Amino acid sequence: MKKWVYLFEEGYREIPAERRRDLLGGKGAGLAEMAGAGLPVPPGFTITTEACNAYFAAGRQFPEGLWEQVLEALHRVEEKVGRRFGDPQNPLLVSVRSGAKFSMPGMMDTVLNVGLTDETVKGLIAQTGDERFAYDAYRRLIQMFGRIVKGIPGERFEHILDRYKAKTKGKQDTDLTAEMLRDIVEEFKALYRKELEAEFPQDPLEQLRQAIRAVFDSWFGKRAVDYRNFYKIPHDLGTACNVQTMVFGNMGFDSATGVAFTRNPATGEKELYGEYLPNAQGEDVVAGIRTPLKITKKASQEWAREHGISEEERRLRYPSLEELMPETYRQFLEVAALLERHYRDVQDLEFTIERGRLWMLQTRTGKRTAKAAVKIAVDMVHEGLITKEEAVMRVEPEQINQLLLPRFDEKAKERAREKGDLLARGLNASPGAATGHAVFDADTAEAWGRDGRPVILVRPETTPDDVHGMIAARGILTQRGGATSHAAVVARGLGKPAVVGCEALQIDLERKQFSVNGRVIREGDFISIDGSTGEVFAGQIPTIDPNLAEERELAELLSWADEFRRLRVWANADYPRDARKAREFGAEGIGLARTEHMFFETDRLPYVRQMILNAPEAQRLMDQLRAAQQAAQARPDDPKAQKALRAAERAVRASKAVKAYRKALDRLLPVQRKDFEGLFEAMDGLPVIIRLIDPPMHEFLPRYEELLAEVVELRTRIEERRKIKGYRPRKGEKSIRQMEEELAEKEALLRAVNALREMNPMLGLRGVRLGILYPDIIRLQVRAILEAACNVKRRGITPRPEIMIPLSADVKELQIVREIVDEVAREVTAREGVEIEYKFGTMIEVPRAALLAGEIAQVAEFFSFGTNDLTQTVWAISRDDAEGKFLLRYLEEKIVPENPFQVLDRKGVGRLMRMAVEEGRRTRPDLEVGICGEHGGDPSSIEFCHEIGLNYVSASPYRVPVARLAAAQAALKERAARIETR
Ligand code: PEP
Ligand code: MG
Repeated sequence: MKKWVYLFEEGYREIPAERRRDLLGGKGAGLAEMAGAGLPVPPGFTITTEACNAYFAAGRQFPEGLWEQVLEALHRVEEKVGRRFGDPQNPLLVSVRSGAKFSMPGMMDTVLNVGLTDETVKGLIAQTGDERFAYDAYRRLIQMFGRIVKGIPGERFEHILDRYKAKTKGKQDTDLTAEMLRDIVEEFKALYRKELEAEFPQDPLEQLRQAIRAVFDSWFGKRAVDYRNFYKIPHDLGTACNVQTMVFGNMGFDSATGVAFTRNPATGEKELYGEYLPNAQGEDVVAGIRTPLKITKKASQEWAREHGISEEERRLRYPSLEELMPETYRQFLEVAALLERHYRDVQDLEFTIERGRLWMLQTRTGKRTAKAAVKIAVDMVHEGLITKEEAVMRVEPEQINQLLLPRFDEKAKERAREKGDLLARGLNASPGAATGHAVFDADTAEAWGRDGRPVILVRPETTPDDVHGMIAARGILTQRGGATSHAAVVARGLGKPAVVGCEALQIDLERKQFSVNGRVIREGDFISIDGSTGEVFAGQIPTIDPNLAEERELAELLSWADEFRRLRVWANADYPRDARKAREFGAEGIGLARTEHMFFETDRLPYVRQMILNAPEAQRLMDQLRAAQQAAQARPDDPKAQKALRAAERAVRASKAVKAYRKALDRLLPVQRKDFEGLFEAMDGLPVIIRLIDPPMHEFLPRYEELLAEVVELRTRIEERRKIKGYRPRKGEKSIRQMEEELAEKEALLRAVNALREMNPMLGLRGVRLGILYPDIIRLQVRAILEAACNVKRRGITPRPEIMIPLSADVKELQIVREIVDEVAREVTAREGVEIEYKFGTMIEVPRAALLAGEIAQVAEFFSFGTNDLTQTVWAISRDDAEGKFLLRYLEEKIVPENPFQVLDRKGVGRLMRMAVEEGRRTRPDLEVGICGEHGGDPSSIEFCHEIGLNYVSASPYRVPVARLAAAQAALKERAARIETR
């Protein structure tokens, strides 16, 4: 018979460590290991993830033998504890909790106090001598069972509870009397009866059976499915179910319950960090209903200071656990330290103190902010707990991106404060700064977020049902809850700024607004939150860029990463300031400078337009001249040829287009030269790949449709005025003559724009094709590059230019361009008297180039994969159209596992890349190969680039640190795999 159920200590003894999490889930494995290590764990057992999967496979039926094994394990627990399940004199109560392999905080279900009935509640009173406590436990069971197992809306129970609380002085749960709780139990049962037309089950075993089913069912609950989709957790893992003896933190003021991290999960500081509530049950801390107290005295004092609470009042009303129960506190510290050493990582602990006795309920790897992840990894290396390799592997590359996220400009924040825009201060639960429209429900957050509007989700507190809105929001603000509340934990996991427990806010969900100090913020109003300080502002506050040099631990971690990685990390940068930023972040070269971006600058655009508008006519005349020259040379005695030559020369000399074209090129030369000088200076001694002009020409021109509309409007206006007899323009108005001139100009522009229009510009006249049609443009660019190199070299800088041709598909294209490039280079270096070494290479961004890489490498000294275009052309998908239309659907229906424009499609695009690398290197063994599409900054794609042996990845400057870490992880993973296969 298959074993579905393991007592905690059995799990430790019988399941090998590496299988434990798979089979028992994270929580179950932690309990097994704690029990195995002799720590105080309330007895219990775990039903395996296999049982959960078998349950679903059988159409939501317990697999054979499961129930019998549960009964058997329950019996063993009864023996250990000395109580019996359902015993009216001395009842055993259990909790039933989910627990998957990967932590999914609050996403699945838990039922507490299972085993209480009208009968056993009397036994609980006898056991504890505390009627109030017993009825409180019973009403919690009915409430949780009704809500979670049976789906009765939670607020129906809360309404009843609130009604009773309102009758008390203190208005808190703890103010309810035993009689009130007994009445509440009756009302809860009546509610249950009314909602379900059935009695609340009085058979404890029936309660247990249904609770286990509910835990299994919650694996496919909407929240859990959404969460797994977001975190890419497979849906076939299943959840385990833990059944454990209840211990009570609400048995008076010598009891408590709490959660703690062995280090500060927000900053990474090495200090026990946590909160507890005296006389409370576990759910009270997590749910954020009562504001919890600090565990350590130091944290408690800091908290009091921040809240303007005197030391005397603090000691009296808000004591730390350290002060309230010093003995138990010390024992807890020891347990925490032991667990951290055992797991060699930060632990997130749940504990309960029942009448002075410590019980450990959970240990798991603690979620942490990016900042904490880096600090903890680096500290643990210095403490000798883990190796540098482990430290590098422990930090998610995407996470460090957070550390380099913008934060508020302090000066702007100060001004906002002075203006009185500081609304309130809450708990700094997850760092970072965010500005956005206030919204008050998750669905709106999701809808607005989808439209690209920045939103801050504002809630009294969050629950797992809000997660989709939290994902869509830039930041999260809650009125209630502590540093370990749902909002705080999930925000940290998502890497979003959050301010929680901001009690000053009065949120009115119905009217979609909150008020604070007489100010009202409505849905859609801008607010700004600082998750690092807990401040909440009205209005928008500008953000500034962080500085890597100040992030000492991150710099150290990245320096270790640099020791391990084989891939170089370059950056895509078009301007010197980007290049400097990239270098500061550790870039070792520029993998792509898109020269056309410089053309878009407003002071250049007029010349760029002049160049484009005149290029076709000028080029036609110049081509004619060249043909005439060749003919005349070939037939020097032919008077006809000589005559034609003179005519062609005259035509060129007389042509306005040629003049304008040349003038534009002349104007652009010095500005481009200056651009390149800036790049070479910033990257002194490092390679700089400059790509020649790529986009279709019309991108630089006004849009055809708009121009057409303007022309039509102008024509109509002129006609109308003509109809008015003796029309005279008023002051400030143009005369009809002037308008006609304007019209003529616009019409000429319209004709030119029309001539350049293409049905499918992405596949039209762009890239290398432009250079072949208009070689003067690339002559201009190459001259600018080489003259810039000569200039900086004379100033003692080492330029390492690499000239890159976009969109080539055939070696002949490259041969033609290369001849031009080399010719210009010879000219410039001879004239300047400076030696410049440069490389000539091409982007590989159309399938044909990848297919013919072997030939192309005869001319190209380097390849750079332009995976943006390569993905478009391999898939035959236009990115701009696809992302808004069908790609989302493809993702939802899992036709594609990931957006291929974000994560490299290894199967298709990757296959071509691998082939191109191999064939290119066969022709030219020292071929330099890199990637400069967006994928160059994506960790999974970087791993693939490592695998196929690229020399470098090139990413946007802000992603350079991410790429350094991802490249190191790729190398370490490969090393680990090699060791394994040996
Ligand atoms: C590419 O296609 O991947 C690329 C880098 O070029 P662009 O994005 O400029 O088309
Ligand atoms: Mg491209």
